[in-house]
Amino acid sequence: MAKLDITGLSKAFGSHPVIADFNLHIGSGSLMAILGPSGSGKTTLLRLLCGFERAQAGTIGIDGRVVSGPGVHVQPEQRRIGYVAQEGALFPHLSVADNIVFGLPRAQRRAHHRVAELLELVGLPQAYAARPPQHLSGGEQQRVALARALAAAPSVVLLDEPFSALDAALRSETRNAVVHALEATRATAVLVTHDQAEALSMGDHVAVLWQGRLAQVATPQELYRAPATRELARFVGEAVLLEGVVAEHRAVCSLGSLPLAAPTAPGPAAVMLRPEQILLLPESMPDTVPAQVESVVFMGAHANVQLALPASGERIAARISGQSVPAPGARMWVSVCGPAVAYPAATRPS
Ligand code: ADP
Ligand code: MG
Repeated sequence: MAKLDITGLSKAFGSHPVIADFNLHIGSGSLMAILGPSGSGKTTLLRLLCGFERAQAGTIGIDGRVVSGPGVHVQPEQRRIGYVAQEGALFPHLSVADNIVFGLPRAQRRAHHRVAELLELVGLPQAYAARPPQHLSGGEQQRVALARALAAAPSVVLLDEPFSALDAALRSETRNAVVHALEATRATAVLVTHDQAEALSMGDHVAVLWQGRLAQVATPQELYRAPATRELARFVGEAVLLEGVVAEHRAVCSLGSLPLAAPTAPGPAAVMLRPEQILLLPESMPDTVPAQVESVVFMGAHANVQLALPASGERIAARISGQSVPAPGARMWVSVCGPAVAYPAATRPS
């Protein structure tokens, strides 16, 4: 039995279904990232897990004990769940230490139970204990919010888009500190986010929430390299989609005959590659096709290049190193690195 078992969970507000027949099992000590666009029901799901909302159907089990199900609704404070909300929500009139112990029984609050240990765990100096939270950066405040969520030694920790208010530099540093703290406590964690880079970089597994349902659960690399549908391919990164056909275990398209990432039924298909699989060469080589550079956006470490394929009239995006960037109008040759994913073309209704 997994640490967290969600089975057949459904929740509607009025006639508007938000979570529909949702199933997910999360192993002890792992970090599950749930990736979904804004409005897909991420916060609702976490509120159901905490017990702030009641589901219309389904069950939630924590450590093998049903906390929500037909005729069962364990109160939030009895569920041993730690919650980090989107905007840290620290109390400005309390010190960092008092914020951390806020949810503990009175004697432990008075004793500042485990404050030193928790500050160390989230990588903050002990001197911060006495400070008001406004004197900390946004990333440091989120670490205090995590320390507060961990203070009661919860069985499961839920994080609701905890880094969305941080700027890029702070975000990666704070992400690392949070992953480290969660690993050190061996807490089972669920992080929800609309940010695919966050989900891919933090989750042991990533579950994609799409229109209230679970579209795919996979390791970050599996999800990125072999998304289940072309819609997911676009959502989990940038996708190059070409018309093609699957024959003899290969994807044949305007970029040639490519190996497949997974066995696919023969027939017409959409062929998907990631822009970084498109390599640009200055001259013709075996297995290259001609392409013309239409536009280049230089990003520093890399550049995004828009290409036209004269043979098919298709346009594709390439992501290349920022070291050597072609000029718009340049004629180049394209080769493909790594396998393609093919999605059988939907049969049209006759
Ligand atoms: P996310 O966190 O993925 O952005 P939410 O769970 O906040 O999504 O919301 C999902 C949908 O449920 C939205 O359409 C939202 O308007 C609706 N919703 C959320 N909470 C309530 C509520 N208390 N009453 C009515 N509708 C709600
Ligand atoms: Mg939300």
